[in-house]
Amino acid sequence: MDKPGIVVTGASGRMGQMLVRTVLASPACRLVGALERPGHDWIGRDLGQAMGGPALGIAVSDDAVGVIAGAQAVIDFTSPAATVAFAELTAQARAVHVIGTTGLCADDLRAIAAAARHAPIIRAGNMSLGVNLLLGLTRRIAAALDEDWDIEIVEAHHRHKVDAPSGTALMLGEAAAEGRGAPLDDLRIPARDGVTGARPRGGIGFAAVRGGDVVGEHDVIFAAEGERVVLRHLATDRAIFARGALRAALWGQDKGPGEYDMMDVLGL
Ligand code: NAP
Repeated sequence: MDKPGIVVTGASGRMGQMLVRTVLASPACRLVGALERPGHDWIGRDLGQAMGGPALGIAVSDDAVGVIAGAQAVIDFTSPAATVAFAELTAQARAVHVIGTTGLCADDLRAIAAAARHAPIIRAGNMSLGVNLLLGLTRRIAAALDEDWDIEIVEAHHRHKVDAPSGTALMLGEAAAEGRGAPLDDLRIPARDGVTGARPRGGIGFAAVRGGDVVGEHDVIFAAEGERVVLRHLATDRAIFARGALRAALWGQDKGPGEYDMMDVLGL
């Protein structure tokens, strides 16, 4: 069987370019298309040259329907509005849609669920193997420990990040809350400032550090009287997200329609 053909959306973006390099370096698949938004100055240019390297023979396109029709998988780290549109087109082509885009609202998620009735969609706010391991461990440890153990999630990111806590910190909070058997909304303690009073028992606290070029760091702290357990993930290279996304695209090739996440891909 031919190697699966992969399309990268938002090919000029930070993750888009990383994904292009990752797909090109993989012996398990072929890059068959690169999409950008209509009007983008890369449209019509050779992708390799637009990225500052040798020609690849693939022109950057805004013809999403035509390009996706020839693909077995679409890897998509763009914006919520673009991702919702790509979900519909990818489902029509019966191709695998890997979604790394964050910040999706409830309406976006409903549209994605509708598309997943026709083809596999794999979505995760963090595609790295290590973070998904951390999620699984956090859930298990939170389930094993009682409320004598306070749970705190501390994250650090580069100075350009505009939101806090990070999407990954919230995913970790949800994993901890799931372990505790309650919704995160009931347990969440937002960042502290001023006279906040004593820590509520059983709550899950969040704190954020911002500075420099930190790619992403997440600590999950379980603190009791006299002892502390700290689970830590450090990301030093955005390539981890691209590698995870490609692994998901290949994993999805023999899967039926439905919504999946990286825990499914990694068998966790
Ligand atoms: P970025 O550099 O801004 O890249 C986004 C790209 O998508 C841009 O090139 C943008 O083009 C393009 N785009 C927007 N609308 C489009 C459309 N309709 N058609 C085609 N392309 C379109 O951002 P980034 O840092 O790569 O991040 C992208 C997304 O991935 C964010 O949601 C981020 O949070 C998420 N992310 C997820 C993970 C994970 O593991 N799940 C990891 C890292 C990042 P313009 O420049 O013209 O707008």
